[in-house]
Amino acid sequence: MTRRTTGPEIERLIQALAKLPGLGPRSARRAALHLIKNRDKLLVPLASAAAEARDKVTVCSECGNVDTIDPCTLCNDPRRDRSSMCVVEEVGDLWALERASAWSGLYHVLGGTLSAAEGVRPEDLSIAKLIARIAEGGIKEVVLAVNATVEGQTTAHYITEQLSPLKASISRLAHGVPVGGELDYLGEGTLTAGMRARRPC
Ligand SMILES: [Zn+2]
Repeated sequence: MTRRTTGPEIERLIQALAKLPGLGPRSARRAALHLIKNRDKLLVPLASAAAEARDKVTVCSECGNVDTIDPCTLCNDPRRDRSSMCVVEEVGDLWALERASAWSGLYHVLGGTLSAAEGVRPEDLSIAKLIARIAEGGIKEVVLAVNATVEGQTTAHYITEQLSPLKASISRLAHGVPVGGELDYLGEGTLTAGMRARRPC
């Protein structure tokens, strides 16, 4: 049995933090200690922000983004170009493109990539919804901003085939990036350049 150094409440905080991406047990302990030491300045606002997010966060029924309203802020924004749609794997990719101001059209979040190895089939992703959105008309260009992984490219190929009977032109984000690079980790300049240099499928 491991020796206890804190009460169960602090232990639970450490364990929850340790599940965050990029945080192992050691950094989770450091983060927990930092939060506890700065109770009023950090722990209290974090707890209330987390509670508020828990109560209000929802998935956009249009694009799959996460927000506190449905349709989401982006789908509701009248300034966005409604004739173009950027398809991404995950919400993190959408946020990366937004941070880089690389896209001003609509988005569609697939929720992953096709993968024979992991048993991810087209019906496991938001592909039918994507086809339905394009079939509604009004979208002239679809940009597939999937990652430069085998799964990402397989998914792009599948979507291109599925959308081919429809009117929209399809292009792909130009990747001057290593295979396996995730959009979320790319610099903002790279993302913007990749979007500008997109190629027709
Ligand atoms: Zn949305």
